[in-house]
Amino acid sequence: MDKIIVFETFYNPIEANIVKSRLLDSGMQCFLTDEHTIGMNPLYTQALGGIKLHIFERDLEQATALLQEEGFSPGFSMTSDGGEEEVPVKEAATTGMECPNCGSNHVGYVQATKKRFGMLTVFISFILFVYPFHVNKTYHCFDCEHEFEK
Ligand SMILES: [Zn+2]
Repeated sequence: MDKIIVFETFYNPIEANIVKSRLLDSGMQCFLTDEHTIGMNPLYTQALGGIKLHIFERDLEQATALLQEEGFSPGFSMTSDGGEEEVPVKEAATTGMECPNCGSNHVGYVQATKKRFGMLTVFISFILFVYPFHVNKTYHCFDCEHEFEK
């Protein structure tokens, strides 16, 4: 009988299911524990130590390699705070665009700060088996923080 080990611990049920699906797709047996409790109340996540993804020890190397290929890394965690967190806005080259909100031309073409890893994006990506790793680009006014499309 093969030994079953905890491969990875997640604090986000969606992320846990994405990884689980990838492993199953590749023919590796795996299962999650504590998923239901955490899904119902995220506050329990810390108390329970997260959602555990179990695999057979013999699959460890293959599973690790697969996830690295997919862009996951050990300890990878897409935090469950819903993607509202502010990321540092990279100063971009002058675009010549004018902010429709305040008229400033101090406008850069940057990563969209508000849509990044929104729960809906993650959810849709999960259904389509596409990872939400591409980043939306948007115009960003450095004076009033307004963000707009062309
Ligand atoms: Zn502005």
